[in-house]
Amino acid sequence: MARVWNFSAGPSALPINVLKKAQEQMVEYPGAGMSVMEMSHRSKSFTEIITTAEANLRSLMNIPDSYKVLFLQGGASSQFAMVPLNLLAEGETADYINTGRWSTMAIKEGQKLRYAQVIASSEDENFSYIPKITKSDCTPGAKYLHFTENNTIYGTTFYSVPETDARIVTDMSSSILSREVDVNQYDLIYAGAQKNMGPAGVTVVIVREELLGMADSSVPTMFNYQTHAEKDSLFNTPPTFGIYMLGLVCEELMNMGGLAEVERINRAKAELLYNTIDESDLFSGTVRVEDRSITNIPFVLPTDELNAAFIAEATDRGIANIKGHRSVGGMRASIYNGVPMEGVAFLVDFMKEFEKKNK
Ligand SMILES: *Cc1c(COP(=O)(O)O)cnc(C)c1O
Repeated sequence: MARVWNFSAGPSALPINVLKKAQEQMVEYPGAGMSVMEMSHRSKSFTEIITTAEANLRSLMNIPDSYKVLFLQGGASSQFAMVPLNLLAEGETADYINTGRWSTMAIKEGQKLRYAQVIASSEDENFSYIPKITKSDCTPGAKYLHFTENNTIYGTTFYSVPETDARIVTDMSSSILSREVDVNQYDLIYAGAQKNMGPAGVTVVIVREELLGMADSSVPTMFNYQTHAEKDSLFNTPPTFGIYMLGLVCEELMNMGGLAEVERINRAKAELLYNTIDESDLFSGTVRVEDRSITNIPFVLPTDELNAAFIAEATDRGIANIKGHRSVGGMRASIYNGVPMEGVAFLVDFMKEFEKKNK
């Protein structure tokens, strides 16, 4: 079977050049005589791999020296707990904006472990927009404001950082490396790698150094950012192969011209798909136009029967994982960096053909 166009929300398509380079180096990593998966995380080769991965990520995102980059395990979901455990003492408050499933889970953990306050939500319209907040919506004295920058399931994005006096914490799992951001605007960024940075298993945390060391002594060692920061993510065995792949993905994006160029391509991909949806009499979008994501694009047909037919026929054509999340229905095209323009054009051509046949 040939490679399909994979529109999976995560784990998702990886750049073909990265897969090929990993294949080339799979059995014998140059100079090591063994696979990356077989080497010690304390070896010279792996030290080079993790140092390069971090340097590549720092260079791509222009991460200032005053931030630590951590490579952790446990997924973005573990960060839902690590963030409050590290940034809030007993009795302190944090604000959260609820824009969907992942925000809801972050809020749940915050409320379970500390005190998390929901200051805005778009649940009233099935999370189809980003609520606008002002400083007056924030809780006085709140330690941080948490929001999910890109809502993978609903296809909405915060294109600006909400205004608050609190620290800014964001879940960037499905938008990191898709466009340029100014890291200085955030105090802590976290992201699971499996959407846009590499394979599942590694979670990136980018945190202002001054926020380290605030966790109280009851926080488990492995759940304390300080533990990992002090040891450059080598306190225990890190997800070695994932870090290697993340380094290759960053290298590929650097070779493409960096995030400015990557963003230009991603905007063009998203525009092609949104224009097709907007010009169609059959397909429609589900998200308020100004809040539309460039990485996760949900769209629906008028009936369940048509949705099912589209998904089945698309699958036959080599368009994989196009079925929408059950909370939105219809279809969702996740067009991360690993899906080139050619893949989006293939999808759009199929949509037009489907519309002609079904109008
Ligand atoms: C996928 C996703 C998560 C969950 O990530 P895990 O790594 O599976 O824990 C959290 N937040 C967002 C925005 C996601 O897209």
